Amino acid sequence: MFENLMRELRSMERMQMSFPIESDEDGYIDKECPNRDCLFQFKVHKEDWKNIFKDEAVYCPKCGKSATSNQWFTTEQVNAGKEMAINNVKAMIGNAMREEAKQFNRNNKKGFLTFAMKVNGFNEQIIKLPIKCKEIFEQKIKCEKCNARYAVVGSAFYCPSCGYNSSRHMFNEFIDTTNAKISNLDFIKRQLSTVNKDDAERIIRTLIETIPNDLVTAIQCLSEDVYMNLPNSKSFRKNTFQRIDDSILLWEETISESHNTWLTNEELIKLKKYYQQRHLLAHNNGIVDEEYINKSNDTSYEVGQRIIIDKQDVVEFCEIVKKLGNEILKFA
Ligand SMILES: [Zn+2]
Ligand SMILES: [Zn+2]
Repeated sequence: MFENLMRELRSMERMQMSFPIESDEDGYIDKECPNRDCLFQFKVHKEDWKNIFKDEAVYCPKCGKSATSNQWFTTEQVNAGKEMAINNVKAMIGNAMREEAKQFNRNNKKGFLTFAMKVNGFNEQIIKLPIKCKEIFEQKIKCEKCNARYAVVGSAFYCPSCGYNSSRHMFNEFIDTTNAKISNLDFIKRQLSTVNKDDAERIIRTLIETIPNDLVTAIQCLSEDVYMNLPNSKSFRKNTFQRIDDSILLWEETISESHNTWLTNEELIKLKKYYQQRHLLAHNNGIVDEEYINKSNDTSYEVGQRIIIDKQDVVEFCEIVKKLGNEILKFA
């Protein structure tokens, strides 16, 4: 009794299942950074993944951390794979049980429990942007060092194949993509409304709120790259260039220039406010606290309110960052 089933279960102990991962219409496959604080999703060209990328190290375009090539499956791919594996196992057990039943019935000529296994397809749960919207967001990059092709959304400057920091070459292109993104918000909203009207407003707000973080990351990445290559650069702490006052000090000490000379006083005050807003979004779900009011001098909010970032804010933030970035680029 149950020989078939036992044999099937034993064979499963060492079983490995592999599932194909589909590429998009341009031949790119999805990847996700394994760093728990990052989980950045990007795409790499399927052919380059095979021919250029190395098994020992793949780099995250956003945080720059590296890990072996077998750790970059996306959460969706892992979940879909698990579900397919479970369904396969269920189907195998089901088949083995049915085989047992047939034998049992043949031997005993009595009824036996039969059951049907239903193998479900997996549901697509991620919100997919319509194709035209996706094109506005995605930046396709070919690494000038190793030729690997990859695609990112937002500020991501490290080549996933060789780790090269391309921020000085990509900075203005990144600003252009961000501006295109901002000026297309209304169009995107219309497109999204055709898919799901209720979600359109929420998604647009989420999209706007990704921009401050992208802008801060872009300046940080560019500053690190340019600063480290100065002949008289000093060592600096991680995230120094994420904080305006710390970066001003470091630039002043090293080149006697800084935000104080590169920007007008008014621009610097606004920049500080937007940096504080990004900080709130990243660490406090956008809820205003004492620290925000003290550091930003923004009296339009009270503690406990949620900040609202509109299109005009990100347009202005982007303009100041563009100016600052191009001043920094003069030292590259
Ligand atoms: Zn990462
Ligand atoms: Zn590269």
